[in-house]
Amino acid sequence: MKIAVIGGGPGGYVAAIRAAQLGAEVTLIEKNKLGGTCLNVGCIPTKALLHSAGLLDEIRNGAEAGIIAEAKLDFSKTQNHKAKVVNRLVSGVGGLMKANKIRVIQGTASFLKTNLLRIVTEKGAREEAFDKIIIASGSLPSAPPIPGAMHPRCIDSTGALALQEVPSSMVIIGGGVIGVELATAYASFGTKITIVEMMPEILPMMDGELTQMVRKNLERKGIKILTATKVISIEGREEAADVKVETKESQEIITGDNVLICVGRRPDTEALGLDRVSIASERGRIKINEYMQTSCPDVYAVGDCASPIMLAHIASAQGELAAEHAAGHQPGAYLEQTNPSCVYTEPEFAAVGLTEEKAKALNLDYIVGRFPLAANGKALIMNGGEGMIKVIADAKYQEVLGVHILGPRATDLIAEGALAIRLEATLNELITTIHAHPTLSEAVREAALAAENRAIHYI
Ligand code: FAD
Repeated sequence: MKIAVIGGGPGGYVAAIRAAQLGAEVTLIEKNKLGGTCLNVGCIPTKALLHSAGLLDEIRNGAEAGIIAEAKLDFSKTQNHKAKVVNRLVSGVGGLMKANKIRVIQGTASFLKTNLLRIVTEKGAREEAFDKIIIASGSLPSAPPIPGAMHPRCIDSTGALALQEVPSSMVIIGGGVIGVELATAYASFGTKITIVEMMPEILPMMDGELTQMVRKNLERKGIKILTATKVISIEGREEAADVKVETKESQEIITGDNVLICVGRRPDTEALGLDRVSIASERGRIKINEYMQTSCPDVYAVGDCASPIMLAHIASAQGELAAEHAAGHQPGAYLEQTNPSCVYTEPEFAAVGLTEEKAKALNLDYIVGRFPLAANGKALIMNGGEGMIKVIADAKYQEVLGVHILGPRATDLIAEGALAIRLEATLNELITTIHAHPTLSEAVREAALAAENRAIHYI
């Protein structure tokens, strides 16, 4: 069985490995770098910058724990560290391709027929037929129709990750995950940040109660947040740009050395020639069924080019499943309800399952347990006990419906919540699982206890 994978991001390279494990003869075509958005200009470089920012903050705030040192930023070294991590991971993916005997072609693929690709490389163009094709072409930053948005002072997330100097001020248009994470990093580096968000609140998909706490943390860091505020226009100058914004009541102009535009991403499917083969899509997003098959059953699509949830772990989960189905195996389950959403703020914010807003909207009979991290020993040691864990469960059966964590290592801790939802666990099953002491994970158990009105370390 000959399988082609278009795109070497976390959707594509994972699909390629899984298909090779199942005995397929796999070709992966990548027009840019292996690792895709995630490794090169997404998850990994942002977290590398955030790691440096976090270290800087920890040293600055270390006096209480007896660390008295002057924290200085050498931004070129920060960028070098980021590049080193990225390069290591990208070459690691290359190694995995070799080890799995996957043929990698550096080139751009498009469809001629449903099983026939045109592949353009440096050496020229050729045609090649495959039994199955998995599209994992990813996404690109959306460019909003704001007058002046094309000025060189305006950058997208890729531009923000590549800055060689720390700007003194930055206006960030868009208070979603990417905008908030880059705001967090650059605010620690010393940039004066203003976030402008059109919606009534930043991070609109997250639990409102905890989002309010995140907002306060960001504001305490000196980040100005303007919500329910629309950008009218941008006027770029040589050294800065003026962003004109309006609320229902007023208009104002905010100036930044850079304007970072993070208003979402769009599927990168225009160059694939989908029309030629009648693969159905809607506004560029490829339509897929539960096995990730497109309207042409031998063609699959995974990750950002097909999924409304644009996350690396979603892309990889879909990639594995598509590969298994394409290789003629019974695919594993793809359970979107177990998808964790993570925001790498300080402290971190992570969630899985239903928010309280969603539980209300669905008219569910639910109970909530809250446990403040001020009552958790490990959190007190680590960050003075800042944060909270919130567990939402069905009132009758006590099944865990949602877990929301604001606190240190929230993005790691959320895996317990995801597993609880996967196993349809009850509060009692979380409670009767012994959690090590002293750990942050004890607080997840305590939040479950709180939902039953029997928290031990908090009244
Ligand atoms: P991509 O990673 O975009 O890979 C697609 C690949 O296909 C690209 O390499 C592209 O060059 C190639 N390609 C496209 N068209 C063709 C063609 N015609 N021929 C050949 N090759 C082609 N997600 C998380 O889960 N956690 C995070 O912390 C996180 N942080 C992020 C931070 C930022 C700043 C950004 C921008 C994104 C972040 N994401 C994060 C999202 C994550 O990067 C994407 O969801 C993920 O990379 C999608 O994987 P993918 O394989 O679908 O596509």
